[in-house]
Amino acid sequence: MARPLVEVENLTKYFPITRGILIQRQVGNVQAVDGVSFTITQGETLGLVGESGCGKTTAGRTILGLYPATAGAVHIDGQDLMTAKGADMLAIRRKAQMIFPDPFASLNPRWTVNAIVSEPLRVHKLFHNEQERSERVRNLMALVGLSPRLVNRFPHEFSGGQRQRIGIARALASEPAFIVCDEPISALDVSIQAQVINLLEDLQDQLGLTYLFIAHDLSMVRHICDRVAVMYLGKLVELAQKNDLYENPLHPYTQALISAVPVSDPAAARRRRRIILQGDVPSPSKPPPGCRFHTRCPRAVDRCTESEPVWQDAGDGHFVACHLL
Ligand code: SF4
Repeated sequence: MARPLVEVENLTKYFPITRGILIQRQVGNVQAVDGVSFTITQGETLGLVGESGCGKTTAGRTILGLYPATAGAVHIDGQDLMTAKGADMLAIRRKAQMIFPDPFASLNPRWTVNAIVSEPLRVHKLFHNEQERSERVRNLMALVGLSPRLVNRFPHEFSGGQRQRIGIARALASEPAFIVCDEPISALDVSIQAQVINLLEDLQDQLGLTYLFIAHDLSMVRHICDRVAVMYLGKLVELAQKNDLYENPLHPYTQALISAVPVSDPAAARRRRRIILQGDVPSPSKPPPGCRFHTRCPRAVDRCTESEPVWQDAGDGHFVACHLL
């Protein structure tokens, strides 16, 4: 069995809510991520899905140390992110990178592609001389399908898809083992999305990369991921192999999400019953007691308002948090 490259245990991230002008006092917390645990094995792609605001991006950024965690533990290739400092933290940063959702906002408009892709090479001291650095940048450009002749251009001279390729080249520059892909195609035209997904798959095959793929497009997630984790209001509610999750979802929230995924077979589409959830997602600063989903769950029972469901193994690596299991 492949070893876990990424181990996330009880990860919690709260953002304080403060009031006051001269003296700020804390009046509560936004509970963005609350007790999330999972592992990702080397070479695997784990999908993290859920509605906007469910905490999936915050989870991805906290796993990389871009936000300090409130509680919990993250180990990347055996190294403890929470206690790492100095050279150890730099080593983790080299191994774990991120592809951002918006290629327009994530690239410095004043820098050439050469400067953007060279930055991680400089930070991690990955070249001995100018010629080696320049060659490495050109190789990275070619690796992501961009002409090395374009290295001295600025981000605004590229299309959206090309800019995302520049972002991918920057993420690859430090030779990472693990990449958090945070909605990497959500800002792109539909016609370009498949090209970027194919590129990520090719790179994974060539370089043995491990991905945490954050997305809300469940069709795309089924295509690219090996396992899928579903988040609701800061908590994981279900995690399973992708086919198991899509064909046999156990949690009522997952069932509702999957009932909305378009199917190409008209007969199957006619047979399927769409589950429409009522009400809005509650505020993460005041999550409901008991099961956080009970205010919208079509199958809620009295117990759901009082006690929080535990994370249970339903067999074959299929985990779910629901009293009805
Ligand atoms: Fe619905 Fe209750 Fe299960 Fe929560 S625990 S998903 S409210 S049935």
